[in-house]
Amino acid sequence: MAVNPNTVIDLDGVPTAIKDLNRTDRNVLGLGHSVWDIDVLKKQRHPGDWPYTSEDCQRADERFGVWINNENDLVCPGCGLDYT
Ligand SMILES: [Zn+2]
Repeated sequence: MAVNPNTVIDLDGVPTAIKDLNRTDRNVLGLGHSVWDIDVLKKQRHPGDWPYTSEDCQRADERFGVWINNENDLVCPGCGLDYT
C-alpha cells in the first residue's frame, strides 16, 4: 500500500509530515527504500519512467515487484530499484 508522504506524525511532540523527516526515519515509516539498499543498489536502479526516486518511493513496502526486460529483472513498481 502506498505511503502518503503528507501523513503527519508526532515527532517528540512536534507534528511533522513523513516527507519532512530525515532519510532514515522516513524509511522506517515506509517512505523510501532503506538507506543501505539505496547505497548498495544504486547502480541497479533500472532506467525507465518511474513515478518516484528510491529515496522518496511511496511503494517501498510493496513486496510485489514488476518484471521488466522480458522478465529478466524484478524491480520496484515505484522507482525501478532491482529486487532480484
Ligand atoms: Zn521503490
